[in-house]
Amino acid sequence: MRAFENNIRKVEPYVPGEQPQNKVIKLNTNENPYPPSPKVTEALAKMDTDRFRLYPDPTCGPLVEALAEFYHVDRDQVFVGVGSDDVLSMCFLTFFNSKKPILFPDITYSFYKVWAELYRIPYECQRLDGNFRIVKEDYYKENGGIIFPNPNAPTAIYEELDFVEDIIRANPDVIVIVDEAYIDFAGRSALELIDKYENLIVVQTFSKARSMAGMRIGYAISNPVLIKYLNDAKYSFNSYTMNQAALVCGTEAVKDREYFEEGIRKIIETREWAKDRLARIGFICLDSSANFIFAMHPDYDAKELFEEMKANGIYVRYWGSERIEQYMRITIGTREEMEELFRFLEKYMGVK
Ligand SMILES: *Cc1c(COP(=O)(O)O)cnc(C)c1O
Repeated sequence: MRAFENNIRKVEPYVPGEQPQNKVIKLNTNENPYPPSPKVTEALAKMDTDRFRLYPDPTCGPLVEALAEFYHVDRDQVFVGVGSDDVLSMCFLTFFNSKKPILFPDITYSFYKVWAELYRIPYECQRLDGNFRIVKEDYYKENGGIIFPNPNAPTAIYEELDFVEDIIRANPDVIVIVDEAYIDFAGRSALELIDKYENLIVVQTFSKARSMAGMRIGYAISNPVLIKYLNDAKYSFNSYTMNQAALVCGTEAVKDREYFEEGIRKIIETREWAKDRLARIGFICLDSSANFIFAMHPDYDAKELFEEMKANGIYVRYWGSERIEQYMRITIGTREEMEELFRFLEKYMGVK
């Protein structure tokens, strides 16, 4: 081994779901099956490309303002980044700077562990219970910070706001980050608690409910003090995280509330129908409040089924890791895509 190898920061990276370039039924990375708001298409068609000569607005002014208006908060309570992955990574860097371990669930978004390792933040995973639920009392011990998604991923289980509030209230000395990537498909958001707890940060994304995973937009909402700390870290890293096209398209998307709400309604409707269909052919599904379903079948090996589906052009997500080796995660597609999925499953299982 060369001497310089000792000085290289080595990490075991996050492994994203596959992005096949051919046409498949893509139910593997929780994208939205519907296009973004037509307002976005219009804005893109009218885009002034001469503006690309210049650096974008480092404050992301119009986008921050649109989000502030949408969520009824002040502009200095909003931070935007290149997808919520960027926002979350910046939060880890900024707020998790203790020698005590940060806490997050053992089965959750696998990026948390990667960032903790990358930034050398000590961490301790808390075991979900036998029903894959977060045990809130596990988060009442001494720690250096807390992060969990609500609904959790990949379980899709949503915890009520009282439950989330108990964790925040029990931890006044550390920052609690609630990752609400899927909240629009679930229930009440922790945004309601922003003015009540000065240690709370809520992170959301345009990638799921707003149909814009390809544009890479995410945001954090908190109090002005914590948002200032986040901006200080951002300006010490890269002042121009958001590109001009994303700023313009993101702003238009936020302004179209009606389209946003209609899209969510359709996905929830398909989800409830799909849960029922899956149950009828013997799947056991965790109770989903997201745009995906975490499911297993007692009579079929998940890995074999996953591979068979893939060979037939239907992509879902499978991890094969401890405790979830018999589960797969199925993103809610359009009704037609889901019909295709069921046609395949029923044939595979010999159901008539
Ligand atoms: C999808 C997802 C994100 C990140 O999404 P971005 O595309 O980076 O905004 C963050 N957390 C969870 C739990 C997710 O599922």
